[in-house]
Amino acid sequence: MTDFTAELEERLLRYTVLDSQSDETSASQPSTAIQLDMARLLAEELTGIGAAEVRTTEYGTVLATIPATVEGLPVVGMLAHVDTAPAYRAAGVKPVVHRGYNGGPIGFADAPALVLSPEVSPYLGEKLGHDIVTASGTTLLGADDKAGVAILMTAARHLLAHPELPHGAIRLAFTPDEEIGRGVDPRLPEDLGADFAYTLDGGRVGEIEYESFSADGAVVTITGVSVHPGIAKGKLVNALHLATKLVATLPQATMTPETTDDREGFLHVYEMGGTAAEAVVKLILRDFEREGLAAKGALLRQVCDAVQATEPRATVVCEIRPQYRNMRYWLEQDMTPVELAREACRAEGIEPVSVPIRGGTDGSRLTEMGVPTPNVFTGMQEIHGPLEWISVQDMAAATRVCLRLVGMVRGEAWRLAWHPRLTPPSGPPAAPSTPGRPAPRG
Ligand SMILES: [Zn+2]
Repeated sequence: MTDFTAELEERLLRYTVLDSQSDETSASQPSTAIQLDMARLLAEELTGIGAAEVRTTEYGTVLATIPATVEGLPVVGMLAHVDTAPAYRAAGVKPVVHRGYNGGPIGFADAPALVLSPEVSPYLGEKLGHDIVTASGTTLLGADDKAGVAILMTAARHLLAHPELPHGAIRLAFTPDEEIGRGVDPRLPEDLGADFAYTLDGGRVGEIEYESFSADGAVVTITGVSVHPGIAKGKLVNALHLATKLVATLPQATMTPETTDDREGFLHVYEMGGTAAEAVVKLILRDFEREGLAAKGALLRQVCDAVQATEPRATVVCEIRPQYRNMRYWLEQDMTPVELAREACRAEGIEPVSVPIRGGTDGSRLTEMGVPTPNVFTGMQEIHGPLEWISVQDMAAATRVCLRLVGMVRGEAWRLAWHPRLTPPSGPPAAPSTPGRPAPRG
């Protein structure tokens, strides 16, 4: 098959210099206007390569169609996100290509103390001779998920230039705000119009992920009694004291992100603030299983009740709301999309691996909303920080897997064992699965 490395590298470099960071503190949709610059660029390029039905939705997602060359096949969606993580500096990215990697340490022009090596990133040790792309030391690279964007644009360009290749209709979607958990607008499943889909947002070569965390968010609001401190004796109830009591009572030596891995879930306090009058504590709850997630919610409520019991004059209100659910619950009912991706890997001589994601993807939400959407590797590594890197050859492998995949979709292969538009599953089924080593992603 064609060697896509030159095109992939050119696209990755061009996309990564465009700052398209999302911002969870913003209420607008998309959260930042700079993401629309990226959307505009992609819409223009899609039109330029001959894609059909190119449009940008009012929620900032770019949609396009690669028309079917064979009729009667399922419609396959392909997604990547245009935003980069708010977790690290993303303005002024200067991508650097380290051509023909020699196995040694990689330095950074703008951060002389920073070193990337197989010691800090063991997977790099497998990439001898590859062309490695990094940033210059002061920003993230944004291969998460510009690599996914570059892979899909390259695959789309190739398919549109080769109408002799057999495939059904392919719907492309480039979404904003994935990194802040707002990538899937309620209108997206309908607008996408795919029978099943894939996100190009995974790590090492061969990763086909169909299991993510189940996730809830919690906000605890503590209202004290506000009195002038000079006349407060016996009257004032300090909400900040109660908030610290709450945090101190929650598990710290277990059940936190820093003390768990593999298939363990956690309770994570990520923000607290307020005044003596009112304090707010924000948490996220994560577990691979519904029962485990529910148990963490129950524990949080118990701790809230205990704090409330120490001070009846205060009010402690705990609100827990669902964020996303483990996509395995739905995908296990019909593994066809996962199996297709695995087959496509094998056809490229790549052994597929499925590890649970210690986080979520746009596919977690999409799957729950009726579009089964496993996650496919791109090659991205050490994401959300200055050591972020990717091999151009890994991106080429992902591109070839995508092309294989769309060529393998057969009408009869899609068994429609369940289809939410026809028969919504009555809640996630029970939970047998293959335990694997989870990937540190999200
Ligand atoms: Zn991502």
